[in-house]
Amino acid sequence: MVHSKNEADRIKLFNLGIIERNPAEHEFHQAVQEFTGSVMPYVMANAKYDDGHILQRMTEPDRIVIFRVCWEDDKGHIHCNRAWRVQFNNAIGPYKGGLRFHPNVTQSVLKFLAFEQVYKNALTGLPMGGGKGGSDFDPKGKSDREIMRFCQSLMIELSNHIGEDTDIPAGDIGVGGREISYLFGQYKRLKNRFVGTLTGKGLSYGGSLIRTEATGYGVVYFTQHMLNMRNEKLAGKTTLISGAGNVAIFCAEKLTSEGAKVMTLSDSSGFIYDPDGIDHQKLAFLKELKFVKRQRLSEYTQKYSQATYYQGKRPWMIKADLAFPCATQNELELEDAKALVNNGIQLIAEGANMPCSLEAVQYFQEKSILFAPAKAANAGGVAVSGLEQTQNSLRLPWTREEVDSRLQHIMAHIHQQCVEYGAKDDATDYVKGANIAGFVKVADAMLAYGIG
Ligand code: NDP
Repeated sequence: MVHSKNEADRIKLFNLGIIERNPAEHEFHQAVQEFTGSVMPYVMANAKYDDGHILQRMTEPDRIVIFRVCWEDDKGHIHCNRAWRVQFNNAIGPYKGGLRFHPNVTQSVLKFLAFEQVYKNALTGLPMGGGKGGSDFDPKGKSDREIMRFCQSLMIELSNHIGEDTDIPAGDIGVGGREISYLFGQYKRLKNRFVGTLTGKGLSYGGSLIRTEATGYGVVYFTQHMLNMRNEKLAGKTTLISGAGNVAIFCAEKLTSEGAKVMTLSDSSGFIYDPDGIDHQKLAFLKELKFVKRQRLSEYTQKYSQATYYQGKRPWMIKADLAFPCATQNELELEDAKALVNNGIQLIAEGANMPCSLEAVQYFQEKSILFAPAKAANAGGVAVSGLEQTQNSLRLPWTREEVDSRLQHIMAHIHQQCVEYGAKDDATDYVKGANIAGFVKVADAMLAYGIG
């Protein structure tokens, strides 16, 4: 986005203040910088937001809870991890956002995730505020019992801060159906209440159909709307995906169903390139490999010999039409963006949260590449979490078709809001559109409450 000198000065000054008040929280600085780049000019043009110092208020979390989680491994050794719950903003509904278990979790990572969650949740049109939590616990290589003991220990403290009308956690990296079940079981035991305080639950105890698939499917629904604006279709497109977790696998599944060819997936050790495409049969093998056996992606090439495994590399050097970074933050940097553009990429949709660095996003925009930011593109997961809460409150499960149709409707609505607020010449700036549409909803609620 091009700024006037006045705007650029205000943005710079504001972001310096953020860095000063939140030292060493680089991921949080990055998320705020991306946001203010599009929102500050809008604030400057609308006195009620500027006079209300709304951006200062919106970049300060309501509260952060930090606590110790001690647990015993299978050999009887005691371990101590740190956990957080960042309750960022509940202006339009109870805090809502996932829990992440990964050794690189820090307060900065969770603050960036919670901050973005506020605006993503606003875009869904559902009454959800934004939060995020997690721990620096590494689930890799742990037994089921160790995972269970960790989750139970974490919930002893977390249960004091969450509730169906207060804060409703869900999954994220390292927290899938197994972990949510252990967490929910412990919550229920501690509170003696069966309420929808966590989402992503198993189907027989309050979970929603399509929740597992929702983020990946939603990314594809959003992409279809972007392509439709250019009279293009997914069928026949070649695609790159990073990650091999919940978001990546179901993004691959929906792309394949729509006739696109998925050529890559990755994990933190490297990526697989299958020039024949990763079809439904191969995806069934991968689901078993990753979700049941919990093995590494490199095993894929043992079964499918036409595929190549690239140890320690990212998939962005492969030539394709569309790219879907679905693993983690900052996994696609400027050099990767240049490689993609050189190879003729047409569209990038962020399945993961903040997978593209600021420089990469700017580069895509300079080159007029269609770019869907995470806040809009991956909002399908939290949207179906919101629908899970609704079903829990109604005590009535909906069919697969009902939930999928609501998900499609929500993704269409998010796309519509991006087009409305992100108009740029005859195209759409989706970053600007998503940021401003989310901002307006939350800011108006905050102003209505008065100063606080
Ligand atoms: P999973 O834990 O299911 O999968 C994560 C995948 O990313 C794994 O393949 C993992 O590989 C890879 N990965 C993790 N860390 C790194 C790293 N540092 N470098 C390279 N690869 C890495 O997580 P999800 O699929 O649920 O989440 C993926 C992304 O999508 C995250 O950014 C998350 O915040 C976002 N997201 C998730 C939603 C959901 O509903 N689950 C909703 C909206 C956004 P390995 O196994 O080797 O660690």
